[in-house]
Amino acid sequence: MKKFKRILLKLSGESLAGEQKQGINAERLNDYARQIKEIADMGVEIGIVIGGGNIFRGLSGAGKGFDRVKGDQMGMCATVINSLALSSALDAIGQPNIVLTAIRMEPIGEFYTKWKAIEAMKSGKVVIMSAGTGCPYFTTDTGSSLRGIEIEADVMLKGTRVDGIYTADPEKDPKATKFTDITYADVIAKGLKVMDITATAMCMQNNLPIYVFNMDIVGNLKKVIDGENIGTLVHN
Ligand code: UDP
Repeated sequence: MKKFKRILLKLSGESLAGEQKQGINAERLNDYARQIKEIADMGVEIGIVIGGGNIFRGLSGAGKGFDRVKGDQMGMCATVINSLALSSALDAIGQPNIVLTAIRMEPIGEFYTKWKAIEAMKSGKVVIMSAGTGCPYFTTDTGSSLRGIEIEADVMLKGTRVDGIYTADPEKDPKATKFTDITYADVIAKGLKVMDITATAMCMQNNLPIYVFNMDIVGNLKKVIDGENIGTLVHN
């Protein structure tokens, strides 16, 4: 029995870089593609939003003298590059998929609409929604909250390199403990770095639960769909 019928999977650009921290790690990309196919084969309807932090982030560009809006546009293009990479890896293993873009750029991808995304998901295609929200000053976390709400996903699965939300950064503080579940309000009040406030607030206002888990361990995505409690649930 699968726990979720339709999901929004958020992958960070940084995780796509693997150990090399920048660019795209082919092994990581193929691991992700296989994990996604595994749950598509179970009949889960899958929408995906990928970040672009492994290539470019507007904010860090602004720190180096880039115009913020142009920097953010570069960041959005980075998410399109990552989306095409994932699409290609899914093609290679025979998983039907489509790349939609929040900014018009045919023939790279079709222009996003909610209905196009839902129709494609219902026909068994994995739908990769690229270019974030299409607007500067947002993040792909906000893009995935927005898309998750629009496509009426049951949950946003946030695949990261840690296995959930901790009281402090577990990579820095050995005493940090993990939450099995937490409210959006607590995430914001405690200043936990799960997603930015805009993204968290959107999920809170629209009742989209977030499940944070470690996507870098192969097989974990299926475990989440099977209902295994391996991460942290954020809810109202
Ligand atoms: N971005 C944007 N609007 C959006 C989504 C993303 O301007 O709706 C830009 C922003 O510059 C951001 C970059 O794209 O830094 C890459 O996205 P993000 O930092 O969210 O990637 P991740 O951290 O998930 O790899």
